[in-house]
Amino acid sequence: MPKFTRLLLLFVLAAGTLRAQTPSSAAKPPTLVVLITIDGFREGNLERFGPQLHGGLARLMNGGAWFTNAHHDHAITETAPGHATLLAGRFPRSTGITANRVGVFDPASPLVGFSGGPGASPLRFQGTTLVDWLRSKDPKSRALSISSKDRAAILPVGKSKQQVYWYAPDGEFTTSRYYADSLPDWVKKFNARRIPESYAGKSWTLVLADSAYKEPDSVSIESNGRDFVFPHVLPADTTSIDTFFWTVPFGDELEVGLALEGVRALRLGEGPQTDLLAVSLSATDAINHRFGPDSREAHDQVLRTDRTIGVFLDSVFKLRDPSRVVVALSADHGFGTVPELAKGVTPAPTRVTVQPALAAARQRMKALGVDTLALDVDFQVVLINRDAFSKAKVNPDTVLRVFHDEALRIPGVYRVDRFRDLVKGDTVGDPITRRWAHQFPADAQIELIVTLTKGTLWQGPLVASHGTPYDYDSNVPIIFYGPAFNHGRYSEFVRTVDIAPTLAAAAQVKPTERLDGVVLTKALK
Ligand SMILES: [Zn+2]
Repeated sequence: MPKFTRLLLLFVLAAGTLRAQTPSSAAKPPTLVVLITIDGFREGNLERFGPQLHGGLARLMNGGAWFTNAHHDHAITETAPGHATLLAGRFPRSTGITANRVGVFDPASPLVGFSGGPGASPLRFQGTTLVDWLRSKDPKSRALSISSKDRAAILPVGKSKQQVYWYAPDGEFTTSRYYADSLPDWVKKFNARRIPESYAGKSWTLVLADSAYKEPDSVSIESNGRDFVFPHVLPADTTSIDTFFWTVPFGDELEVGLALEGVRALRLGEGPQTDLLAVSLSATDAINHRFGPDSREAHDQVLRTDRTIGVFLDSVFKLRDPSRVVVALSADHGFGTVPELAKGVTPAPTRVTVQPALAAARQRMKALGVDTLALDVDFQVVLINRDAFSKAKVNPDTVLRVFHDEALRIPGVYRVDRFRDLVKGDTVGDPITRRWAHQFPADAQIELIVTLTKGTLWQGPLVASHGTPYDYDSNVPIIFYGPAFNHGRYSEFVRTVDIAPTLAAAAQVKPTERLDGVVLTKALK
């Protein structure tokens, strides 16, 4: 039996001993809302690999309300803004989490039990989430949120001080002082099993026969030219396997194992109140970044995710009355293909830096006597210090025009817009304009926005990535599952900000603030 199955089986058997005996009633609100996020999972995977799916993804697709044309309707399709949106029902312009670099870093909230990592908290998250709405109805409602990534564990539950755990490079799950001063016993016990280290020197092999995979295995651009062919042997020393573990499929199984332990230990979802369980599976994102989303590795990871979620759902439904459980599946963003492997895209995708445009703008500033640091670029965003321009009696538009014109000469740059024009622009016919308008508040001190051409990435070490306003990065699955939902496949355009209000309706609670999303009434019975 492959190792991963053995690990999963352990959780199933353990879960099976504790089935709840709650009487069922579809009219009652759920006692447990489960949000499953697959980090970096393209919606297209569900259709593409559908015939090979027989686990949790298949269960959700075949029994749930499946929205195939669902999008993150914002421009910087990264992990932090995506996760912050899911249970907030609001765009990044309103959650404050506008990019990964805004994130959860917080030196005032050091990690518990692991001293080598940065502190983390929802310091910059603004407003409320489904957890707050549940708790405003019944303060006994609780949440457990787990991921391999801090931002993916923290941001779905917003500012609420709940049970929030993520994977630290020492092979253990941690939290931060924002939430607690010490780890509870059930987390300590789970950590003490040192499961990652039991994988040292073992291999990631294909779950199906070679013939089930159409993708060539030997593509040397994958994994930056190192270890790009199956089997992938995991590091043999315990320190390396601890650090590396979350980036391989077994990391997702570990997360699911901790989540199920948490359901048992916290008696989450026993009712009568509605509790929330959020699990964000991180390995898909790491595998797509390393091998590309069209690789054999990414294909195998879809199949393994299907199995991992299958075991997870089987276990949750054994632990709790399925008629009182609501499940939602989504992703924090999609994924773009490796630029060098993209076919039929014009202009050819490339990797970009706008450094030459910055240099030209600063040269002009120097000539005009403006402090050259008064203009800066943060990937897509150009910012200026207006005071420095006033002091030099120079109209910043002169310099911004230099940047604009030079940036447009760089292969891979598609558009350079004034941010103030984007927020007033055509948000119906022009999705790029709309997505930028949803990214930052209208009063943000941003001068210019750079949009790359389709398939193009910012320069960096990643083989493939995401983060653009294009549909390949925005299109993610949304599936609702449970007695409150109509089974069906829905093709209309919907948005990930619609997940929170729809779950709130299913849980019979009201959002306590104005949302960007709407209730997907079609999905609800
Ligand atoms: Zn992500």
